[in-house]
Amino acid sequence: MDLLNTLVDKGLRRELPTREEALAVLATSDDDLLDVVAAAGKVRRHWFGRRVKLNYLVNLKSGLCPEDCSYCSQRLGSTTGILKYTWLKPDEASQAAAAGLAGGAKRVCLVASGRGPTDRDVDRVSKTIKAIKDQNEGVEVCACLGLLSDGQAERLREAGADAYNHNLNTSEATYGEITSTHTYADRVDTVNKAHAAGLSACSGLIAGMGETDEDLVDVVYSLRDLDPDSVPVNFLIPVEGTPLAKEWNLTPQRCLRILAMVRFVCPDVEVRIAGGREVHLRTMQPLALHLANSIFLGDYLTTEGQAGKADLEMIADAGFEVEGADQVTLPEHRATAGGGCGSHESAGCGSQESAGCGGQHDGAGCGSHEGGGVCGTAAAAPVVTEPRTDLVAVRRRGAGTDLAPNA
Ligand code: SF4
Repeated sequence: MDLLNTLVDKGLRRELPTREEALAVLATSDDDLLDVVAAAGKVRRHWFGRRVKLNYLVNLKSGLCPEDCSYCSQRLGSTTGILKYTWLKPDEASQAAAAGLAGGAKRVCLVASGRGPTDRDVDRVSKTIKAIKDQNEGVEVCACLGLLSDGQAERLREAGADAYNHNLNTSEATYGEITSTHTYADRVDTVNKAHAAGLSACSGLIAGMGETDEDLVDVVYSLRDLDPDSVPVNFLIPVEGTPLAKEWNLTPQRCLRILAMVRFVCPDVEVRIAGGREVHLRTMQPLALHLANSIFLGDYLTTEGQAGKADLEMIADAGFEVEGADQVTLPEHRATAGGGCGSHESAGCGSQESAGCGGQHDGAGCGSHEGGGVCGTAAAAPVVTEPRTDLVAVRRRGAGTDLAPNA
């Protein structure tokens, strides 16, 4: 297919595809799906080999958020029966992180619910970062604490944070449909603050919130402009008790096309499969490793993932290898260019002129801490899928409980 040959050539050159090309990837048929995966896989292997980076989520503070992100089970008014607790102590967080690191993770993602941290919260998290780094040589730490005020990114950087996550989640045009308590511009501003402080920026999206193909392409192009080092791709987990509980819009094939599109647009960036991997990709998860070079190990913020051991077996069975602490994740031009674990000066995922709490690791990351959403109109044909509520389980182990974590 000419389209795919063109996209591979561009990906190897770090050249931006046209929007029409990106939209065409999302519009490919199931008959062409393996060709799409193979093409995007060439780009993935060119920049990241067969390595898979493992990340481990530690939910420092769960629930009770005053914000109203529609996808999130920690939101104001959520009736989901999630664990609710206030800040973990540094030693508790360090203990939780150690489980993930022992399981093979090289990055720990410290996430807290809420609009954004107070200066006192930054102090707490700084102590937690120090505790984790003191006890685990070489570990990468990413903070995801919501919208940052002036000076907070610099303080986190000084405390030893390598990266900061804040997701854009969806297109600017539809952002107001998923959240009313903060704006898309607020999110862009926080990603820019993280960049400016020398933190490696992590910013991604949530798919499956009712958005159109155009919305998906919009947010991925906006991310490319922001030039994050890592792009988490969440697939909405429609959690009961949230406004988006009925939004079962994704098939495994659709998820693979979305990941391929993100790879083509951000070829040399760490593309991470985040929340919803098990729920929406299901038995197709191994194919997604040909597109993404990074996943979360074990559980998400408020929902359970598959067993950490199953993640490791899947990676090995698919012919990939877990990236070691001594291996550099990003291609050299990124790894040597900027702060933290990557850079934002080099090309690839663009500049950082335009511009995120971050993502849906359970949809994750105040980026969106759980992903989920409502948006969109027009364009994309509605996908009819059977709700797989049987695959959604609220996390009842690990951080905030007395039970062992899943790692
Ligand atoms: S995504 Fe973050 S800011 Fe939004 S409701 Fe969830 S915890 Fe709060």
